[in-house]
Amino acid sequence: MDKNSSFFRNLPPGFALGEDAAQHRLLREYGAVFVARGGVVPPSKVVFRDEDDVSEFQARLAVSRSLIGSFSLELQSVAMDALLAAIAEAGDTGLSITPRGADSARRNYNDTIELWKSRVEPALAHWIEKGRMTQAEADAIRALSPYEQVPEILALEDEGIYFAKDLSKSIIYSVAPPGASQHLSLLAFDIAEFDDPSVRRILAKHHWYQTVVSDLPHFTFLGVDEEELGRLGLKRVSSNHREFWVPDI
Ligand SMILES: [Zn+2]
Repeated sequence: MDKNSSFFRNLPPGFALGEDAAQHRLLREYGAVFVARGGVVPPSKVVFRDEDDVSEFQARLAVSRSLIGSFSLELQSVAMDALLAAIAEAGDTGLSITPRGADSARRNYNDTIELWKSRVEPALAHWIEKGRMTQAEADAIRALSPYEQVPEILALEDEGIYFAKDLSKSIIYSVAPPGASQHLSLLAFDIAEFDDPSVRRILAKHHWYQTVVSDLPHFTFLGVDEEELGRLGLKRVSSNHREFWVPDI
């Protein structure tokens, strides 16, 4: 990881990056949001520690609420304005942009914990049954806070003990670890019409891009035109017939 790269120079002042491998990994996978521009406030750490940590960050933001589709959702105000402009433009050509569900925009820390547990618990039971882990080892993981569990679980995955829903790949391709979801920053939005290239084009025009390669319905507000993304230290990756912008580190 090149800490002199353009991406690192564009991180928020005082950005906190832990030294452990897990935080570096999460920065690679979810990090585009940290260089968001256009008047929004990105988080200044890779992983929020707990609910208080998230609440304190979210309380500092200018937030707007809108009824989109059948859900009332919250985003940082600049990101919401851009999304509403994209929705209006889509509407002019007979397209729609709607959320996938009630949790498509803002999430709080406890929402991310429930999702995490829904992957961790069945995986622990599975690996005990397979003889790859003892009951005592599983209990030791359960006794940790979710924040402490993240590096432990990613380390187990390095040995092939995977925690994704299908148990064949990393949990981070299945769910964002607690405190690491871009939805906590109020700069992410999950879209029902993500398969439509015209919709993706309109969203990009309004500074909403795809930044998590494993998460096709997920879009991130980055606040600049596409030509500027490289200068922020992001690189374009093609996957699944679409383009993603990820940290170039
Ligand atoms: Zn999402």
